Amino acid sequence: MTADGAVMTGPCCEKDGSSRPLSVVVLGSGAAAMAAVIAATERGAQVHVVERATVGGTCVNVGCVPSKHLVRSAHLQHWCDEHVEISDGCRCDGVPNAHKLHASRQALVERLRWQKYESVLDENPHVTVWHGEASFEDSRTVRVRSLAAQATQTETLLHFDRCLIAVGAEPYIPPIDGLASVPFWTSTEALASDTVPHRLGVVGSSAVALELAQAYARLGSRVTIFARRGLCTRTDPLVGETLMQALLDDDRIRIHCGALVESVQCEDGVFKVTLTTSQAVFMTDALLVASGRRPSTAALNMAAAGVSWHAASGQIPVDTHMRTNVPHIYAAGDCAPMPQLVYVAAAAGTRAAINMTGGEACLDLSLVPWVIFCEPQAAAVGLTEAEAQARGLRTETRTLPITSVPRCIVHGEKFGFLKLVAETPSMRIVGAQAVAAEASDMISTVAVAMRGHLTVADLSGMLLPYLTASEAVKLVAQSFTRDVHQLSCCAG
Ligand SMILES: Cc1cc2nc3c(=O)[nH]c(=O)nc-3n(C[C@H](O)[C@H](O)[C@H](O)COP(=O)(O)OP(=O)(O)OC[C@H]3O[C@@H](n4cnc5c(N)ncnc54)[C@H](O)[C@@H]3O)c2cc1C
Repeated sequence: MTADGAVMTGPCCEKDGSSRPLSVVVLGSGAAAMAAVIAATERGAQVHVVERATVGGTCVNVGCVPSKHLVRSAHLQHWCDEHVEISDGCRCDGVPNAHKLHASRQALVERLRWQKYESVLDENPHVTVWHGEASFEDSRTVRVRSLAAQATQTETLLHFDRCLIAVGAEPYIPPIDGLASVPFWTSTEALASDTVPHRLGVVGSSAVALELAQAYARLGSRVTIFARRGLCTRTDPLVGETLMQALLDDDRIRIHCGALVESVQCEDGVFKVTLTTSQAVFMTDALLVASGRRPSTAALNMAAAGVSWHAASGQIPVDTHMRTNVPHIYAAGDCAPMPQLVYVAAAAGTRAAINMTGGEACLDLSLVPWVIFCEPQAAAVGLTEAEAQARGLRTETRTLPITSVPRCIVHGEKFGFLKLVAETPSMRIVGAQAVAAEASDMISTVAVAMRGHLTVADLSGMLLPYLTASEAVKLVAQSFTRDVHQLSCCAG
C-alpha cells in the first residue's frame, strides 16, 4: 500500500506469467458480492470489497431475512387467533408484542450477518474490506470515499485487474405529489418498526408489498393496498385471482385495483392519500411505499470507466457471463438486468467470479422459480399456458384444487390450486403455477422435474411421500389421465 492508501497491484499473472495473484475489486457486500468473493478467492484471487453501508447488503439486513421473520411471526399470531382451542394450551396470549418481535428479528439479522457475511470476510486472508462509497476513477481504478460518519475523511484508490459491480438496488419512489415531504415507509422502515400502526396504507402490489401488508394486518393493522393494476399480473391470472380472494378473506385487508395515487399529505401523524382514478381520499397512520427497486448505480461514475448502463432503469447490461461492455468489468445481482431474487444474485456472482479468474461459466435464467410469501403462498416456474402458446407450443394443462391434496385438507387450507402446463405431444412439463400454504415446495419439486426434462407420466409414477406438499405434484400429473377425486386417499 502507498502513503495515500492506494493499493498497487501488478498485472495479472495471465498477462506476464508472474505468480502475482489477480487483483479483483468487488463493489458491494450483498449476496452477489459474497458469492463472488468466495469463488474468486478459492480460485487464487486477492479480493478488495468496498461497502458503503452495512456489510451483508439487502437480504440479511433489510430484505429476505427480517421480512420472512416478520411474516412468520404474523402468521403464527394469526394461527393462534384462529385456533383458540389449541393456542389456549400454548403460550399465545392473543396480543402481539411488536417491540419483542422487533428485538428478536434484529437479533436474528445480527446473528446471520455475523455468521454468513462478516466472519466469512474477516477470516479470509485473501480479502480486504474497505468501508466507503465506491466510484470509478478510470477503467482500472476505483476511488473509495470513507463514510461520512468516520471521524477523518479519507480517499483510497484501488487498482484492479478485474472489477465486479454488485451494488444492488434501492426502493423506487414513484413521482407522487407530496410524497417527498411526508415520513413514508419503505420496506426498510416497515421492517425496522417496533410498533403496529392502527391503519396502514400500502402503495404497490409487489411481492414485498403483499407480504408486508398481510403481515401487518395479522399483527392488527387495518391495511389498504393501492395496486396500480391487479395482483401478480405477470403470471397465470388464476394466481392473482386466488391470492386476492385469500387476502380479502381477512376483513382487515382492503385492496383497490387500478388505483393511481395522485397525492399524499401528512398532518399530525395522519396520512391523506388521494387517488387520481376516483378522487377518493383515504386516511392512514403509516404509509408503506413498495413499488419495486431500482439499481443503486447513480454514484458509480461509470462513464469514467467506459461502462454502459441504461439511464432510465439504472441497470448495467451484461452478457450471459456477467461481462459488461468493458471486458474486465463485470456486474451481477439487482444492479444488472436479471430477476431481483437473492439466489439469482448469488448464482450470478459465482459465475462472474469464475469468468473473472480465467474460467468459463454462464448464467442460465431459463428456469427461475419465484415465491410470494403470503399465506397462502403464490409461486410459479417456467411458462404459463398463455406464454407457452405464444411461443408456438401446443399445450395440455390440468388444475388441481388444494381441496384434492391430502396435506392441504388436513391443514384446513381454504384457497389454492396447482396448475401444471405440459407441451404436447411429448407431455414434457414446461411450467407450473400454484397458490397454497406450501406452494413454494410444490413449485420447487416441479422445477427439479423440469430441469430433468420429466414428463407427466414420469411424475405420475413417482413415489412422493403421503401428506407432503410435493405429493400435489404427483396428483396433478395423475389428473391428466384420471379423475383424482375417484382415487383412494393415498394415490398409487
Ligand atoms: C423486503 C425484501 C424482501 C425480500 N425477500 C426476498 C425473498 O424472500 N427471496 C428472494 O430471493 N429475494 C428477496 N428479496 C430480494 C433480495 O434481497 C435481493 O434480490 C438481493 O439481496 C440482491 O442482492 P445484491 O447482491 O444484488 O445486492 P445487495 O444485497 O443490495 O447488495 C448491494 C450492496 O452494495 C452496496 N453499495 C451500493 N452502492 C455502493 C457504492 N457506490 N459503493 C459501495 N457500496 C455500495 C449497498 O450498500 C449494498 O450493501 C427481498 C428484498 C426486499 C427489499
